[in-house]
Amino acid sequence: MPWYKKLHWQIILGLVLGLIFGVVAAAQGWSDFTSDWIAPWGEIFLRLLLLIAVPLVLASLITGVASLSDLKKLSRIGGKTIAIYIGTTVIALIIGLALVNLLEPGSGVPAEMREKLQTTFADQAAEGLETAAAAAKRGPLYPLVSMVPGNFFEAASNNRNMLQIVFFAIFAGIALLMIPKEKAKPMLDLFDSLNDMIIRMVEIIMLFAPIGVFALMAGTITSIAGDDLGQIMELLGALGFYCIVVLLGLVAHMTVTYGSMVRFLTPVKIMDFMRALAPAQLVAFSTSSSGATLPITMERCEKELGVSEEVSSFVLPLGATINMDGTGLYQAVAAVFIAQTIGMDLDLSAQVTIVLTAVLASIGTAAVPGAGIIMLVIILESVGIPSAGIALILGVDRILDMCRTVTNVTGDATVAVVVAHGEGQLKDMTQLAVSN
Ligand code: ASP
Repeated sequence: MPWYKKLHWQIILGLVLGLIFGVVAAAQGWSDFTSDWIAPWGEIFLRLLLLIAVPLVLASLITGVASLSDLKKLSRIGGKTIAIYIGTTVIALIIGLALVNLLEPGSGVPAEMREKLQTTFADQAAEGLETAAAAAKRGPLYPLVSMVPGNFFEAASNNRNMLQIVFFAIFAGIALLMIPKEKAKPMLDLFDSLNDMIIRMVEIIMLFAPIGVFALMAGTITSIAGDDLGQIMELLGALGFYCIVVLLGLVAHMTVTYGSMVRFLTPVKIMDFMRALAPAQLVAFSTSSSGATLPITMERCEKELGVSEEVSSFVLPLGATINMDGTGLYQAVAAVFIAQTIGMDLDLSAQVTIVLTAVLASIGTAAVPGAGIIMLVIILESVGIPSAGIALILGVDRILDMCRTVTNVTGDATVAVVVAHGEGQLKDMTQLAVSN
């Protein structure tokens, strides 16, 4: 197949053209045209992905759990998955903290820029602070409570409640394992066929991905820059070093941590892994949502990397909701950056507190755009950094959100491949050429 027919190249083309179009539109004052006529196509693409996320998790997880031979296997795979998720998040946080302490991006921000940022983003920051304050008021066991849905339809009606759907699906799968086989069969057949139907829907939506990604990129750039490209350039000038530190951390974590996991813990070649996952990473970059990307991550892991459905249907939905290494790394860098900018010293115990709260915060972060900065407030408060400080970094948050979401999705896929190989459930794909 010629290279330009391959899906990931088409998506890259869409992304680059979207970027160029967005910049030209901002420079030429076409932001109204872009938001009226271009951005809606991106919104449709995003909605299609979100539309299938809940039924996909439900169907694949129920069939995945119910097809396990016994409950011991479920607790083994579950325990392993959660341990690796937490372990990699801690590594990501340590990388972030090491870089931000070493490079000190916050010490170079001039005082007048700091004041300007704080006044410009004060209103947006206040909104975030309100949401975070409501979250902080809840008791220590709230994360556990919020995992259990009180009403199935309420849980299914909001993509932010994905963890509740995961809970329901595992619970239902276990119950199906415990009833006589002939009674369970009709339900399993139903979910099995639902699963196949949804996977086919993902494939159809992916045909539309290059255009969807183009429109999302163009829309995002004009919504950040409006008709004034100079404003974003000024912001990047002031916060550029901070952005570079976050990006360095994300790249280091992806290449060193995930790279060595794939290299040493699985038989998959790094290049094959990258090529297979590229469409999911590109969609993660343009949607800033690991929840919206989940259908594609699952499709790529199963069809291109050879992860069994049993493993992918358990590991990936769980990962999309609780495993956010990119978000954790960004939160650690952002917290210390804000402290450095306002001249506050953070000792070792404060940095350890950041690691502990950031692990919990990244678990609690919803897989939607901009969720990470809201949870950042909780981390700031745990070490006494004024939470209004998020105003300092809000201007560039969307750009970093796109990048950290790529890391989040890559982390989930890495763990899926590692767990599948450990369970003897990784098909050898070298025989089958990577089709896209
Ligand atoms: N947008 C991120 C995700 O969906 C979450 C965040 O860090 O805001 O993975």
